[in-house]
Amino acid sequence: MKVAYLDYNATAPLRPEARAAMLEAAAVGGNASSVHGSGRRARMAIETARETIASLLGARAAEIVFTSGGTEANQLALRGAGAERILVSAIEHDSVRLACPAAEMLAVDGRGLIDLDRLDATLGNGRGRALVSVMLANNETGVIQPVAEVARIARRHGARLHCDAVQAAGKIAVDFGALDVDFLSLSGHKFGGPQGAGALLVRQGAMLEPQFRGGGQELGRRSGTENLPGIAGMAAALQAAMRDMAAIAGLARLRDGIEERLAAICPGLRIWGAGAPRLANTSCLAMPGMGSETQVMALDLAGVEISAGAACSSGKVRPSHVLRAMGASEAEAREAVRVSLGWASVAEDAERFVAAWTALYLRTGGRAARVAAA
Ligand code: PLP
Repeated sequence: MKVAYLDYNATAPLRPEARAAMLEAAAVGGNASSVHGSGRRARMAIETARETIASLLGARAAEIVFTSGGTEANQLALRGAGAERILVSAIEHDSVRLACPAAEMLAVDGRGLIDLDRLDATLGNGRGRALVSVMLANNETGVIQPVAEVARIARRHGARLHCDAVQAAGKIAVDFGALDVDFLSLSGHKFGGPQGAGALLVRQGAMLEPQFRGGGQELGRRSGTENLPGIAGMAAALQAAMRDMAAIAGLARLRDGIEERLAAICPGLRIWGAGAPRLANTSCLAMPGMGSETQVMALDLAGVEISAGAACSSGKVRPSHVLRAMGASEAEAREAVRVSLGWASVAEDAERFVAAWTALYLRTGGRAARVAAA
């Protein structure tokens, strides 16, 4: 059975450009810290990838620290910034929310947007060197935060700012300089690069305490032999994603078509984050009365791969903390599924999703609801 893969926010399929770059890098074979020819070639490949990523994101090459992915980049920023106070938005990914247990939570409104007045007041009320962490785009709803405004408020209070741009990079333009943040996290596998490769962008001059010590790689900011194929694949994927940006923005047509058709057959359909600026590829949909796990399994049987809002590594679904922060009841937070499209998505994938979701809806509560309403 041909599968419709609609889970790009979990991992995007590897782009052919990334695969080619990884194979080429793997053939180099040396350690970038070695002084011989193979080592120099490895170093050259890493520095070329660094330059590429920096130029695509409005950063300087020296501001990029390669990591093992988004989780490590987030932890490095939150734990390494030397902050006495950490404030994180309530909708952050767990790799931010759980990085520092004492972090203060910043509220969002029903649309999933950070409450800027509350941020201003909270920063004004506390003491100590503060670090604020607000993501650029949410992994469950796709809601895009006003990070440049958050930066203005943070600056006014002398706080530093970390931005998890793991879901935004490769889907919308990300300009490190223009956002005016101190730290920004990336993860290769979210935009068609390999898993296990990421980066933390660190503003020149920003203090960063390394979390891994050893060989002193990455200018002492992150020790460990660099993942050359991963880094090269990530740079090639980002380049391809930026080149395809118009096509990624065009996914909104497919996404909106899905939402319109589902809303037409299911009057109680809830689309979380629809009232806010969103990534073009993401839809967070709740079928009333139907657990997200059941929806994900039923669609999987029909050859359509999507996610429940927040699954942990065991695959067990917890009520989404993102939707709870947006005002969902516990039951509502268990009913949402995430559909996320990407670079290889086609109209047929959307059709398959709509058909499978509709069949499930009519097979279960939906039919009863429609008959009762008639
Ligand atoms: N931040 C966000 C917003 C994410 O969606 C994810 C992954 O789902 C991560 C961080 C973690 O990235 P990685 O899988 O590279 O550790």
